[in-house]
Amino acid sequence: MKSILFVAAEGLPFIKSGGLADVIGSLPKALLKQGHDVKVVLPLYKKMAEKNHQDFEYVCSYSVTISYEEINVNIYQQDVNGVIFYFIENQTYFERDELYGYDDDGERFAYFQKAVLEMLSRLDYFPDVMHCHDWHTGMIATMCKENYRHDARYAAMKHVYTIHNLAYQGNFGKEMLHSCLGLNEDLFDCGAVRYDTGISFMKSGIVYADRISTVSPTYAQEILTTEYGEHLEHVLQMRYSELGGILNGIDIDEWNPAKDPEITKNFNKVSVFKGKVENKLALQKRFGLEEDKDVMLVGMVTRLTSQKGLQLVLDQMGHMLKANMQIVLLGSGDKGMEAAFDAINSKNAGKFGFYRGYNEALAHQIYASCDCFLMPSKFEPCGLSQMISLRYGTLPIVRETGGLKDSVLPYNEFTKEGTGFTFTNYDSHEMMDAINRALCVYYDNKVDFKKLIKQAMKFDVCWDKSAQDYSNMYEYL
Ligand code: ADP
Repeated sequence: MKSILFVAAEGLPFIKSGGLADVIGSLPKALLKQGHDVKVVLPLYKKMAEKNHQDFEYVCSYSVTISYEEINVNIYQQDVNGVIFYFIENQTYFERDELYGYDDDGERFAYFQKAVLEMLSRLDYFPDVMHCHDWHTGMIATMCKENYRHDARYAAMKHVYTIHNLAYQGNFGKEMLHSCLGLNEDLFDCGAVRYDTGISFMKSGIVYADRISTVSPTYAQEILTTEYGEHLEHVLQMRYSELGGILNGIDIDEWNPAKDPEITKNFNKVSVFKGKVENKLALQKRFGLEEDKDVMLVGMVTRLTSQKGLQLVLDQMGHMLKANMQIVLLGSGDKGMEAAFDAINSKNAGKFGFYRGYNEALAHQIYASCDCFLMPSKFEPCGLSQMISLRYGTLPIVRETGGLKDSVLPYNEFTKEGTGFTFTNYDSHEMMDAINRALCVYYDNKVDFKKLIKQAMKFDVCWDKSAQDYSNMYEYL
């Protein structure tokens, strides 16, 4: 049994902007089941203050130095089914409309990380392992090993750094190193934290952690290459022996078609075909699509960013609209893409439905109602949407990259194996070919399509195996 502190910028059930939050909400629960003592620390954002503050228990206050000023920290906590969540409160830094995307993000997350490290001595709580996630927490191991190295309690802790998405690196000006992080500028001069003319939180995490993990085995290999390495491939190659990939799971209680309160008709492996039809008709109605249980319905739930391969979808939209299928898209992000999908939506009522925005309930309905789920990502560290789709008997059509490759088995018309349809290269014609293969099986080989649905629903998407892999990593450390 180990004690582990998860440090992250977002986590369910409190706050979510993407898959990171799902992992922070579900992996600690799975580790707890394996006997570990797991705690989580998050920033206290405005949305949480508005919704949850009255449930939080006050713990203590202190200050940390940022830009040579003493900045106040309030700590709150809440127990969520045995996992203690700590919250770092500073209204100026975190009580804003969005989570990220501000000019002072570097300072905000420098503050967060400093506050976390100081919290340990205030609470006299020193876990065996600090498990940090993504760029927002990349300086924790660095500060711990540089600024606190003479304190045996800090020096004894081990550091795991998990990369959920290498594309977001937290690169900031060099001046932050001393003014915000309290680190010596030698670290820039020797290259340990340097990136171009500034510093990189992501690189620091990779350099200083005792063990680095990514969220799928394939992505762990891909990021060693120039194509996927985001200019950090050489740093990752240096730490190759400490790098591994562990596939994410999903929270099977939250994503459970048999009990999901958001969907029209609950279903399980036995009642899936009837259940999906009822959900499909309801979703078609909601989107103003032609109500037809027999037409193939393809869904997408995604951030609208270039990572997700939406350019391929736009390139092939003409063909997709001509094919015998309907498409629903739930997403928000890039303004240009939002406008492009809005325009398609207004001209193709009945065939294409677009909901611009973030909507949890609608996401559940899409996973439950569609026949196929399209995810043609340029790169995909793990991807949760395809795993949710598998659990809801919605066959993923995916590009073979990262976690998509590790979780979707391509349909083999001879052996009948498979849980979805895949294509290899980032190419819109290849994507369309995979969609056409799905259409052929859907309309011309209903027996195989149903078999694939059954196989998809059997795919193990729960955390147990991966949590065991994390356990082994903690033990190894
Ligand atoms: P990423 O973390 O790169 O955005 P993932 O597939 O790992 O992608 O996780 C995305 C998660 O966010 C899934 O649970 C998905 O259902 C959810 N999601 C993405 N966009 C939306 C949206 N617009 N509305 C509701 N849920 C969304």
